[in-house]
Amino acid sequence: MQDSIWFRTLPRELRDSLQQSTELPGDASFVIVGAGMVGLLTAYYLTEAGANNICVIDRSTVLGEASGSNAGGLWFAQQSREMGTLSSLVKKTRQLYEELDERFDFDLRKPGMLQLCFTSKEASQRSTIVKTVNKAGFRAESISAKQVGELEPKLQKPTRGAVFYPDEGCLHPGRLAARLAHYLREKEVTFALGVTVETLAPQIETNQGTISAGTTIVTTGAWTPLLTEVLNWRPPIKPMRGTLMATEPIRHTLNHTIMTPNFYYWQLPEGHIAGGGSVEDVGFRRGVDEKTTSSIRNEMNELLPSVARRSETCCWSGFRPYCEDAKPVVGLVPGQKNMFVGAGHFKKGIMMAPVTGKILAELATQGKTRLAIRSLSPSRFRLKK
Ligand SMILES: Cc1cc2nc3c(=O)[nH]c(=O)nc-3n(C[C@H](O)[C@H](O)[C@H](O)COP(=O)(O)OP(=O)(O)OC[C@H]3O[C@@H](n4cnc5c(N)ncnc54)[C@H](O)[C@@H]3O)c2cc1C
Repeated sequence: MQDSIWFRTLPRELRDSLQQSTELPGDASFVIVGAGMVGLLTAYYLTEAGANNICVIDRSTVLGEASGSNAGGLWFAQQSREMGTLSSLVKKTRQLYEELDERFDFDLRKPGMLQLCFTSKEASQRSTIVKTVNKAGFRAESISAKQVGELEPKLQKPTRGAVFYPDEGCLHPGRLAARLAHYLREKEVTFALGVTVETLAPQIETNQGTISAGTTIVTTGAWTPLLTEVLNWRPPIKPMRGTLMATEPIRHTLNHTIMTPNFYYWQLPEGHIAGGGSVEDVGFRRGVDEKTTSSIRNEMNELLPSVARRSETCCWSGFRPYCEDAKPVVGLVPGQKNMFVGAGHFKKGIMMAPVTGKILAELATQGKTRLAIRSLSPSRFRLKK
C-alpha cells in the first residue's frame, strides 16, 4: 500500500478492509477491473441495481493508486467552470454524495473554499468567475481582503480578496473506500487484489488465471489505454502526476480550503495541514521531487507562518488520469458488446466517482442511462484500423 495522509489517519481495521482479498473466481456476471474510487462506486451502484455475482480485480489494494493519493476535495462549484455543459452531472454527483453520507461515515464536511487573489488582475477576474459559477447553479461570491481576514484570521499573506465558495466539501477517501469495501463484501462482491489483468480479450487473462465475464467494466484510471490497446482502441489518457504533503497535527488553524494560483491547502480534522496539487507531466515516474515539495512548503509557510516550524508527516504523489480533451471517457468500449469504461477524470475523479459509477451500473444492467453522457462517449476516440 502506498503512503498518503489518508492511510496514516485510517484506523487499522479500516486499513485492513482495503487489503482483504479472495482468490480469483473462474467466472463472474460483472467483472470490474480497477479498485479505485470509480471501480468501487460502480460495484456499489451495481449492487443497488440488484446485480450480483460481481468481482472487482486490482493488481494493488483497494485505493492503491490515484484514489488513495488525492486531496479529497469536492469542489463542485469551483470546478463547475471547467465542466461547462457537464454541470448537470456535477449536481447529480453532489446529490449522490449526500445519499452516501446518510449510509456511510467518511468525514464528509463542507468547510467551503477561498480562491485567493494576490494581484489586481486576479481580483478583477472575480466577478466573471462568480457570474459563471452562479449561472451554472452553484454558489460563489466575491469577497474583500478584509472579509478574507475575518474568515481566515491565521492567514498572514496580504490578499486582494477572494472568490468564496461556501458549499465546497471534502471527505476522507480512505474511510469511504474502506466502508464501501466492507459493505460490498457483505453483499458478496468478490475482491481479487494483487491480481494483474494482462489482457481483456478474447477473455480476461490475469497473472493468476483466467476469469470469464458476462460484462466487463474497465476503471483503470491512467493505465486504461495500456489495457484497452489489445482491443485496437487507445483513448488518449495519460498520467499527470500530482504531489501533496501534510504537516504533523497542529491546533485548529484553517477554517476553509484555501486555493492560490499555485496550490491549495486544507486542515484535516486530525489537525494535519495538507497542501499541494502540482501538475507534473512526467509519465509514470513514481515518488516526489524536492523542487516541488519545497515550492509547496515555502508557500504554505508564507501563508501560515504559524505552521513554518512544524515538521512534515508525509509527502506523496499520485497519477491523475488526464484525457487529451479534458473530459472523462464513460460508456461502451468501441467495437465491444459487453465492455464499458469509466476513466480519464483528471482532477475530479473523487468528485465524479459516484455519478460515473451510477452511469456505468445503469449501462451495464439496463443498457441505457438518463444522465447526459453524450460528450463523454468513448466512441469520440476511434478504433485503430
Ligand atoms: C495529487 C492529487 C490530488 C487530487 N485531488 C483531487 C480532489 O481533490 N478531488 C477529486 O475529485 N479528484 C482529485 N484527484 C484526482 C483523483 O484522485 C482521480 O481522478 C481519481 O482517483 C481516479 O480514480 P480511478 O478510480 O479512475 O483511478 P485510480 O484510483 O488510479 O484506480 C485505478 C486502479 O486500476 C488498477 N489497475 C490499473 N491497471 C491494472 C491492471 N492491468 N490490472 C489490475 N488492476 C489495474 C490500479 O492498481 C488502480 O487501483 C487528485 C489526484 C491527485 C494525484
